[in-house]
Amino acid sequence: MITIPIYDTILLPDVIFYFKSEVTDEWNVQTLKAGDELCFVMLREDMDPNKAELRDIYPIGIYARVETIDADGNVKVRAVSRVNVLDFKRNRKGVIKVDLEIRPEIEDLTPEEEDSRFEQLRSRFLNFVQNYQWGLWARAFMLQWKNIYDLVCSMSGYLMMDWEEKYEIIEVDSRKERYDLIEHASMAFMELTDVAETAEQQQQQRNENLYREDAIKKQIDILQRELDEMHPESISDVRKFEKSIAEAGMNEDAEREARKVLNRMKQEGQDSHEYGMLYDYLDFVTTLSWKTEEYVPIDLGKAEEVLDREHYGLKKVKERIIQQLAVMALNKKQSGSILLFVGAPGTGKTSIGQSIAEALGRKYVRISLGGVRDEAEIRGHRRTYIGAMPGRIMEGMKRSGASNPVMVLDEVDKLVRDYGGDPSSALLEVLDPEQNSTFTDHYMNVPYDLSNVLFVCTANSTDTIPEPLLNRMEIIEFPGYTATEKFYIAKKHLIPKAMKASGVKRKDITITDAAVRKVISDYTMESGVRGLKKQIDTLMRYAAVKLVKGESEKLSVKPANLREYIGHRGINHDIIDKKSVPGVVTGLAWTMAGGEILFIETKLIHGSGKLIITGQLGDVMKESVSIAISLVKSMYPEETKCFEEMDLHIHVPEGAVPKDGPSAGITIVTALTSLVTGKPVNPAIAMTGEVSLRGNVMPIGGLPEKLMAAVRAGVKTVFIPEKNVEDLEDVAEEVKKELEIVPVKKVKDVISRVIV
Ligand code: ADP
Repeated sequence: MITIPIYDTILLPDVIFYFKSEVTDEWNVQTLKAGDELCFVMLREDMDPNKAELRDIYPIGIYARVETIDADGNVKVRAVSRVNVLDFKRNRKGVIKVDLEIRPEIEDLTPEEEDSRFEQLRSRFLNFVQNYQWGLWARAFMLQWKNIYDLVCSMSGYLMMDWEEKYEIIEVDSRKERYDLIEHASMAFMELTDVAETAEQQQQQRNENLYREDAIKKQIDILQRELDEMHPESISDVRKFEKSIAEAGMNEDAEREARKVLNRMKQEGQDSHEYGMLYDYLDFVTTLSWKTEEYVPIDLGKAEEVLDREHYGLKKVKERIIQQLAVMALNKKQSGSILLFVGAPGTGKTSIGQSIAEALGRKYVRISLGGVRDEAEIRGHRRTYIGAMPGRIMEGMKRSGASNPVMVLDEVDKLVRDYGGDPSSALLEVLDPEQNSTFTDHYMNVPYDLSNVLFVCTANSTDTIPEPLLNRMEIIEFPGYTATEKFYIAKKHLIPKAMKASGVKRKDITITDAAVRKVISDYTMESGVRGLKKQIDTLMRYAAVKLVKGESEKLSVKPANLREYIGHRGINHDIIDKKSVPGVVTGLAWTMAGGEILFIETKLIHGSGKLIITGQLGDVMKESVSIAISLVKSMYPEETKCFEEMDLHIHVPEGAVPKDGPSAGITIVTALTSLVTGKPVNPAIAMTGEVSLRGNVMPIGGLPEKLMAAVRAGVKTVFIPEKNVEDLEDVAEEVKKELEIVPVKKVKDVISRVIV
């Protein structure tokens, strides 16, 4: 008896099968001859048959006999009966010995029933295979089946059953049950094959459609391109936008909206009055950059280099900017806290924003918000309005051509709130990192991601910026430049730039240092350098005319001939009076243009106890006058009795710019005290500070600018509120050197020192 372990194959009695004699090698069988007895045992799992033991095989096997072996080595075997495998052993040579007994069947089907059930099943199969290409081949094969066991054995490899289920067919003793199992398995096979085939056919159909569509599109494309080449002037808008929408890389919402608009455009046609509006929309959304820019590592060294190269001084400002960039670098982020640059015009706020962009290698875009009063200017108009436009933010994004520019929002303190809604609340949404990744401009009507934009805001002062907006921002002060700083800015930056712009060469002109200083002191009055830049530009233009006309070969600009180049002497700064007059005191003011000195003049005249205020005074300053009068009345009850019979006139000469703010308080009090006591105050003493009714001197803003103005005007001593002492850190040494600075807490500290 030759024992052959097999796996996953159904073998049943009455089945005749063939195999090549080589196959027997795999079974470790050397030679076979007719009449050999075989026992096929069923392995429980797929394993090396040479290692199988009794526990690895199922208890029922198949006993078979070799019938013939032909000259080609084809072995014909007949399965004879099912057997119980009682024992299974392997000798030292590896030959298996088994102990078997025939396993009886329960004959519960008549041969007629068996035949008819088999024939029925075979016709199902024959019918089934008709639908398939391989059906013909299968048909020939099926016609050779002699009984249901032939059928199941030859289909064994195709049935969608696991080995356990297949073995069950071998295992059942009842023929009827076995027929049931085989029929069931066959039906399941046919159904599953049908389902899989249908799905495959459908997929194939879909693929074919796709290929077809692709091929048609390509053809259209080629034909259209040929047409375009013939008539380049008439490439249709629709086609242009079809292409640009496909290439823009928009998000899903945006693409859907753009295609919707494009369809409208197609339907409306060029003559429709809406066409222009639809065109503008598509033009806008397709030129926006929808690409998410990769984070590029920030090179702090390079950033420092760029900032130092482009801007003189501003040490603290640059430090803060570098800190911000370092935080961004650590977080590998393209944006960070929103910086707010606060300072007078021309102090370099916008241009340093531009340098940040350059340092980061990113696009730069500047948006001016001065005078914006309508929310729609930030957030866009809904497209239902005629003449609807995108808001300034998205318009700026389009201009930048990138999704991660450095965006300078200029003059955020000049937003106006009125009936058009509150633009600052719209701006809040733009700047809020929680919301701005899906910022929806009303015109676009689809979200756009602003989270990678680095926002930088500028303002002249923080007073008018609404609190919620201010809270979002990191304030960086631009203190304004001293005369020396302005001198170097002019020499290193403004003059070379103006030369380049005007085409005047270094060999054509010399500008003496004294001339530069004179331009700064006599032709400009500002904290920044904008006026200075203008004057230098004027000077270069004048030089250019002279050179081109050939009136001069080499120009030399000296203080003496400045008038010729720039024209009339620019500005008359207030300088302190030589003479001291009771009732007149020098004060310090902060204006948009920087610091200035101011004179508070007071006089008592015949009248009836009226108060007359003249000059450029804002509301806040008028309030300071009232407080000052009350305070002086309480300090000098006797001396101020005259206020009841005489008119008190307070005048603040106009100077160059209107002044407001509470910081003139101490100056007004001192002027009134000087008036009522009749004692003059030295004009070289100036002061600044708000006063309270209790006589305290309270802190003020703009100290660096005010002290610079004091030096310029010839002041020697300045009284400042004690609480402002820490601001002295921001005041340049060259300014502090020139002044005696006296911090004070109380009004009487000033009075006692200046009224003597
Ligand atoms: P702001 O935005 O504060 O009004 P800008 O940035 O427009 O000022 O500056 C005005 C001009 O002055 C620009 O041409 C700028 O290059 C120049 N400028 C300002 N500050 C400096 C500086 N520290 N170094 C060099 N140039 C400066």
